[in-house]
Amino acid sequence: MSELQIKDQTYVAGTYARFPVEILSGKGSEVYDSNGKRYIDMGSGIGVTAFGISDDEWITAVTAQLGRVQHMSNLYYTEPCAKLAELLCTRTGMKKVFFSNSGAEANECAIKVARKYAAEHRGEDHYTVLTLEKSFHGRTLTTLAATGQDHFHKLFQPLTPGFVHAPANDLAAFTEIAEANKLAGILIECVQGEGGVIALDPDFVKGVADYAKAHDIILMVDEVQTGNGRTGALYAYMNYGITPDVVSTAKGIGGGLPLGATLLSEKVENVLGHGDHGSTFGGNPISCAGAVNILSRMDDAFLAEVRAKGDYIREALKDAPGIKSVSGMGLMVGIEVEKPAGEIVKECIDRGVLCLTAKEKVRLLPALNIPQDILAEAIEIIKDACKP
Ligand SMILES: *Cc1c(COP(=O)(O)O)cnc(C)c1O
Repeated sequence: MSELQIKDQTYVAGTYARFPVEILSGKGSEVYDSNGKRYIDMGSGIGVTAFGISDDEWITAVTAQLGRVQHMSNLYYTEPCAKLAELLCTRTGMKKVFFSNSGAEANECAIKVARKYAAEHRGEDHYTVLTLEKSFHGRTLTTLAATGQDHFHKLFQPLTPGFVHAPANDLAAFTEIAEANKLAGILIECVQGEGGVIALDPDFVKGVADYAKAHDIILMVDEVQTGNGRTGALYAYMNYGITPDVVSTAKGIGGGLPLGATLLSEKVENVLGHGDHGSTFGGNPISCAGAVNILSRMDDAFLAEVRAKGDYIREALKDAPGIKSVSGMGLMVGIEVEKPAGEIVKECIDRGVLCLTAKEKVRLLPALNIPQDILAEAIEIIKDACKP
């Protein structure tokens, strides 16, 4: 083991089972380790570096802001934060944005909005939030409670009360659980990421949205992983023809800097007032300046390219030996494989490709601007590694 790996294992909390790879630098979709070995990055930091590593335009936007002001308290106005909020609202039709630093925090804000709205409109006993089985919403005690996977919950009890879980894609079961509880809100991922890259059925999503609307329940869509162009739409809910009350996002929005955003529709735009919520780092000028650059480059032509690359991957992998099925949407890809996914990921690392897993699947979340030739090179290696 190298000196760096020993130091890291000695002093960094052991929450991550790291691969023995030390990334030193990179450009776009290619990264290099401490031995000078090149890898194609098919994980983009779990869907974070939307335009790849050290993208030139993004660096220009970030460094320009770095030379002006790197942080100010939210007691004062700063331009990047307002500009990004305007851009998000213009592109989505949402009315206001609360900025934080991560996906879990973006969801925490969404849940607070749903609870306050329900307390004011339907009574304080309407606080329960319904989420789906196999969902993933974060690691804080509240977003863990929202996460519909029991194995994350063990030994961290008691979690925040007021969460129930329904099976995905079963409208009858959903309705039964919804009827049995006094719901403030419903929180869903349109494509479940950590749960196995599972795109929800359009009929189910529409049914859930209709139910929420009919009962004045706040519909929240967790777009932390699916958002910011990942599925080939700016936000995945747009693929489903629904209008959520709240949209939470993070990961790709900052292009690699920490940033969370909770988008509020007209119905809930004024639910949070002075003092109801806050974040010291939320709306950081550097993160926001980077995000303005990232989002303003995601136009229709760019999103069409994301969809085309997603189609290319699906076409290339379907029916390949050792591959049972390919799931997901756009550049959010789950590969159901015959061999253990972890074995395939290790083989890919040996052969210079970084990919992820989600449950028993191999998961790909490449940079949205990955060049076609590099993508093709990676897909050939992954295909080969999947062979029984
Ligand atoms: C990653 C993720 C989160 C948590 O985001 P953090 O930034 O790690 O807090 C929440 N929801 C979904 C769908 C995610 O993929």
